[in-house]
Order: sequence, then C-alpha cells, then structure tokens
Amino acid sequence: MSDATNSTDWVIPAPRQPALPVQGESARFPVRRIYCVGRNYADHAIEMGHDPNRESPFFFQKNPDAVEVPDGRFPYPVMSTDVHHEIELVVALAMGGRDIPLESALDCVYGYAVGIDMTRRDLQAEAKKQGRPWEVDKAFEASAPCSAIVPAERIGHPAAGLIWLDVNGERRQSGDLNQLIWKVPEVIATLSALFTLAPGDLIFTGTPAGVGPVQRGDRISGGVEGVAELSLTVV
Ligand code: MN
Repeated sequence: MSDATNSTDWVIPAPRQPALPVQGESARFPVRRIYCVGRNYADHAIEMGHDPNRESPFFFQKNPDAVEVPDGRFPYPVMSTDVHHEIELVVALAMGGRDIPLESALDCVYGYAVGIDMTRRDLQAEAKKQGRPWEVDKAFEASAPCSAIVPAERIGHPAAGLIWLDVNGERRQSGDLNQLIWKVPEVIATLSALFTLAPGDLIFTGTPAGVGPVQRGDRISGGVEGVAELSLTVV
C-alpha cells in the first residue's frame, strides 16, 4: 500500500541535498535556497550604468546546487563568451520566517562565507535589453562557488572590512563591506517581506566595482577580511 506521508518512497531517485562545508566542523550546512542582491554597492551600480541614488537594490535567485564546485574547478559555462566574476559576502541562515524585524534579523544568521556570483554577462545584457528574466544569466551550473561557512559565533557579524578579488594575482575588485547600500539586517528584513526565509537559505549580498571577464586557465582568488577566502581555477 502506498503512503503519501512516507517520504522515503520516490518514483525516481531523490535529488541530493546541496551543501557547503563549515570551517572547523565535520557537519555540513545544507543549502535550501540562494537569494542574491543586485546593485548593493554604489560604485558597482554606477559601473553597470545605473544611478544608485535613484534605484534601490533588488533580488534574484540562483539554484541551490550551483554552490557545488568540486575541487575549486569552475567549469566555464556553455552559451557564453563573457563570463564575469562578482565577489560577494554570503550570509547563511540558521533561522527564517516572514516579516523579520530589523532588530532581530541578525539572530537568524548562522554564519558567513565568501562567494562569487558568476554571471553570463553577454546573456544578461540581452535579457536586460529584451526585458527578460535573469535565470539563464545567473543560475547556471556552478554559478555560485562559495568558501566554507564560518559560524557567526566565531567571527561575529562583519559590517566593515576589505572585500577583494584577484585574477592571476592582479587585483580586479576591491571594496569595503561598509559600502553596502542595504546592510545585512536590512537585506534579511526586506527579503523576509517578499519570501518566507528558512534555515539553509544563503544570501549573496552584492558586489563592489571591478567586475570583469574570466578565461579558461585563470586563477581566481578572493575574500572578505575577517571572514574567509576562496580560490578557483577556471576550466
Ligand atoms: Mn551579484
């Protein structure tokens, strides 16, 4: 007899749970959803042709399994010849909810990581021109490489510090967390008015200026001061 409540019965193999390592722990962090903030640093909004004084940050999503980039080897995606790096502080949630008040937003945070919002910029430019959604530009395989998550109980809640990215040893992106237009508590509070947040959600908080293309063979390294660093090879 079938039982709809028996979650171990599947008609096809159940998908694997995407996850990230946690610094200093053998247990891993299961990834439920990936939210991303667009244009959350004024200098990046300006380099993309927007006025940060007139336009608020906004949200888009990536697929949870996009965090999985085995052995730090980022596979250059198909259908693009202009893949860009965007170094970002990533927030990992231990709790969620709806309409989370600003004052308690940081209580939801499990920890922080550094991630790269990989972007098929050529497809994104076309999508913007046509008024189309961003999934094909932003949510492709391996598009969200991430460091291990560092628990907030170890590093607190970083609100300032260098955020940087090098390609082949050359500095491409450089900014400071204190330049975020929407700070982490505001991002959590605002997102929770739009979506029901939950444990396992990741939030990519936006990138500073200096985004640019990567090529096969490039060595990418980046980090957030006091949080973590991340290295990748483009293959
Ligand atoms: Mn981004």
